[in-house]
Amino acid sequence: AEVAGLVHALLRDVPDFPQPGIVFKDIAPLLADGAAFGAAMAALATFAAGVDAVDVVAGVEARGFVVAGALAHRLGCGLVPVRKAGKLPPPTIRRGYELEYGTAEIEVPVGLLSGKRVLLVDDVLATGGTMLAAAGLIAEAGGTVTGLAVLLELGFLNGRERLGTAAPVHALLRI
Ligand code: 5GP
Repeated sequence: AEVAGLVHALLRDVPDFPQPGIVFKDIAPLLADGAAFGAAMAALATFAAGVDAVDVVAGVEARGFVVAGALAHRLGCGLVPVRKAGKLPPPTIRRGYELEYGTAEIEVPVGLLSGKRVLLVDDVLATGGTMLAAAGLIAEAGGTVTGLAVLLELGFLNGRERLGTAAPVHALLRI
């Protein structure tokens, strides 16, 4: 749709970042454009209105925080951070996973997710490792992921298939 074109127009390809052979998709120009950022959040809010229910938006550090904050505010929902390991005060639960380039560990606060219906958001869905680990942690903390949303999905990495979730997955643009 129209918003997909906006996202596409404002993406910047960065060859060999953060490692040789990787073409990084920079979403900073999209966030820097007020009208485009607003249109992107409106489209995600429309998706959120169609999912089962949302009590809180969970965003993955760091670019996912930007999307999650704007969207939670728009939806009138709370926000729960999914952080890189070692940043959150206890009690937390932690999970490691494989990245397109390397490995990572993320954490969620335990008490804020129990019994909550969660919309999990990030900037980009690549291999799906991050979203899979985050969704696993949310479930382990007693939350229910009712939807997953990103600005951009790198379809050739098959992250959506790897997620294998029953909850709806939405990307503003899939390339
Ligand atoms: P995945 O775990 O799905 O392989 O990678 C997704 C995570 O890595 C997201 O948190 C996202 O921020 C980051 N990421 C991976 N590739 C890209 C990319 O090309 N552009 C941006 N902006 N983020 C990426």
